[in-house]
Amino acid sequence: MLRVAVVGGGPSGSCAAEVLAKAGIETWLFERKLDNAKPCGGAIPLCMVAEFDLPESIIDRKVRNMRMISPSNREVDIHLDNQDEYIGMCRREVLDAFLRNRAADLGAHLVNGLVTKIDTGTARQGPYTLHYTDYSSGEATGEPRTLEVDLIVGADGANSRVARAMDAGDYNVAIAFQERIKLPPEEMAYYEDLAEMYVGTDVSPDFYAWVFPKFDHVAVGTGTMQKNQSLIKGLQQGIRERAAKRLLKGEVIKVEAHPIPEHPRPRRVVGRMALVGDAAGYVTKSSGEGIYFAAKSGRMCAEQIVASSAGGSRIPTEADLKVYIKKWDKLYGPTYKVLEILQNIFYSNDAAREAFVEMCDDKDVQRLTFDSYLYKRVVTMNPWQQLKLTCLTLGAVLRGQALAPSGYRPVPSAVRSAAEVEAMEAVGAAIKGGIRTPQTARPSVPVPETSSVTIVTGTQEEEREPALAGK
Ligand SMILES: Cc1cc2nc3c(=O)[nH]c(=O)nc-3n(C[C@H](O)[C@H](O)[C@H](O)COP(=O)(O)OP(=O)(O)OC[C@H]3O[C@@H](n4cnc5c(N)ncnc54)[C@H](O)[C@@H]3O)c2cc1C
Repeated sequence: MLRVAVVGGGPSGSCAAEVLAKAGIETWLFERKLDNAKPCGGAIPLCMVAEFDLPESIIDRKVRNMRMISPSNREVDIHLDNQDEYIGMCRREVLDAFLRNRAADLGAHLVNGLVTKIDTGTARQGPYTLHYTDYSSGEATGEPRTLEVDLIVGADGANSRVARAMDAGDYNVAIAFQERIKLPPEEMAYYEDLAEMYVGTDVSPDFYAWVFPKFDHVAVGTGTMQKNQSLIKGLQQGIRERAAKRLLKGEVIKVEAHPIPEHPRPRRVVGRMALVGDAAGYVTKSSGEGIYFAAKSGRMCAEQIVASSAGGSRIPTEADLKVYIKKWDKLYGPTYKVLEILQNIFYSNDAAREAFVEMCDDKDVQRLTFDSYLYKRVVTMNPWQQLKLTCLTLGAVLRGQALAPSGYRPVPSAVRSAAEVEAMEAVGAAIKGGIRTPQTARPSVPVPETSSVTIVTGTQEEEREPALAGK
């Protein structure tokens, strides 16, 4: 019987392990940290709920209104009128634990272990020996162990050790930073079913910043390309300042940061090793979405393994595994391309960002955006809609020049009068805790002990990451 190790117990690894275990294949699912809270906005499209059979309890909030906020603070709502439609907001520690446990219930051996080294055999063709530190006993130091397998699925995220073992080649990464902020009930109620997306050079020179609602807090974050990594804390300060009046009396309960891949690795299958999810590089540009694509790629890769191994009775070849890559690129290649073009056009400067937000006011644009995001289907437009969209883009881009602001102001509170906000600010109702930036050097409450900031660029550093406390 075929022996498969899936390294990484995030959405990609768990969804791969689920399919393999269901088919009766001998499957080990390695996760270094069973209570891992992957730094993430946690937004998932509606189609993922049904497609991956997720229970309602996984969803903290059902967002039906996405509020886009331009550099000049123009606010445009993209609203879902159909009560059955929503964007799901999850805490990753909850989602990941569910998917992982489901794979284990179906027969995958869940190993609480950190894979430290992989012997790949002659010409990387296997069999493969994984060296790992087993933490199942609960001891902090763990037990060194080895396991021999015929095939490896690398689902170990942006700092993938499997990618290194198979010489998959590098990719550029973006850096994302996020603070989880507890808010008073009034402010939290405003975010009940609403998420915000801010654009502007103050919050990111090439991406967007977000305020996403979770169970009892909001996740406030931003991202930027690796070349701007040194700016990231200043950009986080930017979103804190723009959203300040909506985050009054907020208290930071967790600070987190992580790389986001910007494009697929040069090689995603080598020998009998295949990469999925972030390890492969499947996050989209423009939206920075990766959870659905991680889960889907894990599933598609595993389905290919099951088919090519005739249910686990023979070892698939490299060519067999590459069929998964072909199918993936055919299915999602155009989506990645379109979103890359959109990011290059609309996130390049404040005039273009003003144009982007203005365009989102159009009902056809809204339906197009939501349909392609929520259902992951290619939306076709009739010629009239295409013409209208082209005119809108051109008009908005031209007008954007005039609308782009020379400076940035905080958006007004959505739940309090200006006078009330002013009075609160006068007595120091600013966000407590979290980042300190050299730009402001303001005296701030120190980061709570339970928080950690780790911008990791290599697995070695990730291994040393301090324990991240739950929310
Ligand atoms: C700040 C931020 C916000 C984001 N917001 C969103 C969002 O709102 N929506 C969205 O769709 N996407 C978002 N993303 C992207 C999303 O988080 C990723 O695309 C997704 O987590 C990829 O899943 P994965 O399973 O491939 O990898 P991961 O989720 O990174 O999982 C990898 C797993 O492997 C484990 N692991 C790593 N190395 C080893 C090892 N050597 N041995 C054993 N285990 C190991 C890790 O502990 C981890 O659990 C965001 C990313 C960031 C950084």
